Amino acid sequence: MIVLNTCHIREKAAEKVYSELGRLRRYKEHRANSGRPMLIAVAGCVAQAEGEEIVRRQPLVDLVVGPQTYHRLPEMVARVARREGRALAIDFAPEEKFDSLPQASSQKGPTAFLTIQEGCDKFCTFCVVPYTRGAEFSRPVTQIECEARRLVDAGASDITLLGQNVNAYRGEGPSGGAWSLADLLRLLANIDGLARLRYTTSHPRDMSDDLISAHRDLEILMPYLHLPVQAGSDRVLAAMNRQHTRDDYLRLVERVRRARADIALSSDFIVGFPGETEDDFNETLTLVRGVGYAQSFSFKYSVRPGTPAAASKKQIPDDVKDARLRALQALLSEQQNEFAKTCERRTMPILFEKPGNKRGQAIGRSPYLQVVHADDAETCIGEIRDVYIEQAMSNSLKGILVEHLKHRIAVH
Ligand code: SF4
Repeated sequence: MIVLNTCHIREKAAEKVYSELGRLRRYKEHRANSGRPMLIAVAGCVAQAEGEEIVRRQPLVDLVVGPQTYHRLPEMVARVARREGRALAIDFAPEEKFDSLPQASSQKGPTAFLTIQEGCDKFCTFCVVPYTRGAEFSRPVTQIECEARRLVDAGASDITLLGQNVNAYRGEGPSGGAWSLADLLRLLANIDGLARLRYTTSHPRDMSDDLISAHRDLEILMPYLHLPVQAGSDRVLAAMNRQHTRDDYLRLVERVRRARADIALSSDFIVGFPGETEDDFNETLTLVRGVGYAQSFSFKYSVRPGTPAAASKKQIPDDVKDARLRALQALLSEQQNEFAKTCERRTMPILFEKPGNKRGQAIGRSPYLQVVHADDAETCIGEIRDVYIEQAMSNSLKGILVEHLKHRIAVH
């Protein structure tokens, strides 16, 4: 059985799936001719978006399963095996899916992800998520707490809470009523053995006062916040339907920094959104200069079929998008390097996750999510240890365990 697990966020996602299916078709036919049957399934957001169209265009596909119905996969495979025809499951039933999660944890290593929310109601005009993942759904608090405890029991000490719009979390509390993300974080902060909490991805509109206060009050909440702005011009933000202005965002950053002065920020950016002028783009650059990001993800706008922006007549030529992306990325990488430089000659608690390429070396994460390499630290994997940062490299930091540093100083 081959499962194509697809992501509709990727550029030309559907076309790539069809071309891959064309390739697999020959493989399946070849196997069938030699009496070795196989199943082909398409899963994920493209399956959700394309639905029956996939089977119509490529009849050799046996199963189409959307992101909310993975738990039905065994039953679907059984149906196909009983030759009951093709199976298609693309309805939105996130609650049912989470109820089907296995109780035993397959957690490996000290970091873990825990999905607490799915879907999005924001409808940014460039984004497919509201169409492929459906409306916002939050898992109940007790279910999340149980899963977090299982992850910690299995060795996790750094948990990232996940959601397409995670800070819109409104899950049912233990005695009814809706809990916010801040309420949930305060509860999880009390789990013995849990050392670090993070959450992603947030929408600026949903950064509530209580969530900002949680950054001030909870030491366990790491000082790193991914807060996508996408663009710096109000005209473009309105066309994107982002539901916040440039000024809203800048004031929000100020409030977050007032609550937690050392917080490192990251963002997503789209350049060349339909109708974006040179002046609009310059406003993105001035916003970036004003905020100062520790890390960022930037992309050229690319059409997502079915979204409102895809139908715009004001698409920007590719060479213009390329030039803007280069200029933005130069600025962002300058800021990322500057931030990394500020970490040199500092001691930071590093959670070691895995061995490095060199013998004895271990790789871990700083509170700001930077990758940190340290020699002679392999025995520290799974632990948080103080590391003196000696050098900022292009995409990581190089450090030495403080206990080794003391030894080095004593020898000299
Ligand atoms: S808030 Fe994020 S997930 Fe929701 S529509 Fe906008 S970009 Fe997509």
